[in-house]
Amino acid sequence: MILASHILSGAVIGENINNPYIVAISAVAVHFLLDFVPHGDYLDKKSKFQEFWKVALDLLSGLGIVFAILYFQKADFTFHQIQNTAIGIFFSLLPDGLTLLYWKMGMKFLGPIYRFHQKLHLIHYPDFAPEREFRLKNNLGDVFVSFLSIFILIIF
Ligand SMILES: [Zn+2]
Repeated sequence: MILASHILSGAVIGENINNPYIVAISAVAVHFLLDFVPHGDYLDKKSKFQEFWKVALDLLSGLGIVFAILYFQKADFTFHQIQNTAIGIFFSLLPDGLTLLYWKMGMKFLGPIYRFHQKLHLIHYPDFAPEREFRLKNNLGDVFVSFLSIFILIIF
């Protein structure tokens, strides 16, 4: 899924669970669970470094939305809650961060995690299948998860 979906769901986990260790474990677990939902990705194995502006845009929109909600809605947020939200976001992004380290930095010891993560994406459709393209109809899961997360962040 896109990073914004992971960031927003990670923020929901951080905001609603008190124990930071449970936040971290749940955020990683939810990342893998969300990636199991069929979805298209805007990067694939042929992506060039020049396409990484998409990653920056994706990161900034997710973080920007969380920041705006915290700033305008949660003025009474305690340090502990902000810390947990940050932990939730960090661990919800970690699997994709590790993929990047394996893929572009050549950290080969991350191979087993990389392959497990990759396999989740290939269960439904192989690489370069039309269903793996980044399209609205392929990414309704992203739309749903992001809007549901924003709703929960604002309401609770
Ligand atoms: Zn992922």
